[in-house]
This record gives sequence, C-alpha cells and structure tokens, in this order.
Amino acid sequence: MLIYMNGELVPKSEARVSVFDHGFLYGDGVFEGIRVYQGNVFRLHEHIERLYESAKTLDLEVPMSPEALTQATLDTVAANSKRDAYIRLIVSRGPGDLGIDPQSCPKPTVVIIVGSITLYPDESYRTGISLVTSSVPRIPTQCLDPRIKSLNYLNNILAKIEARQAGVPEALMLNFNGRVAECTADNIFIVKRGKLKTPDLMQGALGGVTRAAVLQLARDAGMTTRETSLGLHDLYNAQECFLTGTGAEVMPVISIDGRTIGSGEPGRVTLDLLDRFRELRVRDGVRVDFKTAAASADYK
Ligand code: PMP
Repeated sequence: MLIYMNGELVPKSEARVSVFDHGFLYGDGVFEGIRVYQGNVFRLHEHIERLYESAKTLDLEVPMSPEALTQATLDTVAANSKRDAYIRLIVSRGPGDLGIDPQSCPKPTVVIIVGSITLYPDESYRTGISLVTSSVPRIPTQCLDPRIKSLNYLNNILAKIEARQAGVPEALMLNFNGRVAECTADNIFIVKRGKLKTPDLMQGALGGVTRAAVLQLARDAGMTTRETSLGLHDLYNAQECFLTGTGAEVMPVISIDGRTIGSGEPGRVTLDLLDRFRELRVRDGVRVDFKTAAASADYK
C-alpha cells in the first residue's frame, strides 16, 4: 500500500505524522471520504470543493491547488492499482507548538490513503436497519458549522456510542431546537405521500455528496423533493426512511426508537433510489488512468 504524504508516495510503514501535528493534538484539520467504483472516482470534484470550503472556514490554507490535489488523488489510486476503493483525503494544520494557536503551524500535512471500507453488511441493504435518537444534540451551527467536515468527530462519536449501547448501528441526531439534523455519519431522508424530504442544511447537517446525488436522482425520476425542517413525528410517521453517505450509499431504515417505519421493510422508493444510485456510481466519476499515473515524475 502506497500513501501520499506531502507530495511523495511512501510505503504504509513509512507513512507517519508528527505527534506535534495539530490534527493529532486538537483535531485541527479537514478530511474527505471518497469512493472509487470500477476505476471511477465518484464525484471527485464535489469532494475536493467541500474539502477546500471546510478548510477556508477554518482559515487553513491547503498547500496546493485543487487541481494538483485532484491529480495527486487520482495518481495515488493508480499507484495502488485499486479499481474499487475508499479514499481518505486529510489536510491537517500540521506540526506546531504545544498550544492551540494555528500560527505555530507553518506547514499543513496532506495525506491520501487508498483503502477500503465496509460500513454495513450486505444483508442490511435487504433488511434495513434500526436507529435510536441520541441524547446528544448535533453541535449548533453557531458553534461549529456541521457543513465543515473537520477532523473533530467527538459530537458524532458520542452519539455513535449510544447507538451501539442500544444495539443498533446508527443514531439519529437532533439539533438544539429538537429538529432532525442527520445521523452520525449519514444524512437522512423520508418519503411521505410520494414526496422525498430531507432536513435542510441549516438544521445542522453536512452537505453530503451522496445526499445531493440522491436528490438529483429523485428529481430526474420525476419525484418532488423538499429540503425542510423535520421533527421526530415526521420520521415516525413516514412511509419510508433511508440514510445516505459515501460509506452507506443508500441504506433503508425500518425502525426508529422502537417505532416501525411504514411496512417495517425497505420501501419501494428507497429500493428504486438504491438501484438508481448503484447504476449512477459506475458511470458518474472521474476515470483513473492506471497506466500513466504510476510513472508520474512527481512521486517516487
Ligand atoms: N453526515 C456526516 C456527519 C458525515 O460524516 C457524512 C460522511 N460520511 C455524511 C453526512 C454523508 O456525506 P457524504 O454523502 O458526502 O459521504
């Protein structure tokens, strides 16, 4: 396995970051999780754009252009000869002093890992999963905008721990006003009277790349879509519910807090969107050039 580290491709055993990196000390940094399907990097430009937007808000200057980072990502996939993969792109504040001041960190760390991910067993896509509502609210936008995909996931991790303790794989997170925000690593959708609804981003959700793709797929299929404010009442009484995410793709939800959703089985619209997403993911990506990239002069 070859890892991209600050402009070089190095073997996994040599891919190390400093213990003084503020990404390690304070969770100061941003990241992306991206999928490669049959040699196509899914929505690469959207992920790169979100990474730069997250960094901008944190006043973190990515030490290369979006075009160069895009190329480095494609080259790292090619160098690892993986046609189906999960890419983790990380830009941390870099090594500095002990103390939170980012000014002591002159050089951000850029890492690209090409690995794999299995968030849910295959069976869950046929049976659906259950959720519980976490007692931990999503961080309010005024404190740390959840649209920033930062290295600090403690808010979500606390909710994930509650899900595990309740024996379910994912937790629903409400915002400070008790409205539905998202799950710990996925966006959430419901279907009600033929309309597809998802919390608008100001409820405290990450602008998921999969979320945007599914909204588009639904509109293209003639469905009415709404980004709006939703409460638990709306979710409990939905006809269908599902999650979206780079890892999860489109995951049916069949129960929330012990309430059965719809028929208690993955719904028709959900399964149709899952099919459409599976079809989209192999054709809608940036192609990796497996031949030339490995010979790229920039990387040893
Ligand atoms: N919300 C959170 C908190 C996430 O971490 C993620 C990414 N796993 C998502 C939603 C889904 O976003 P995407 O579709 O871009 O993976």
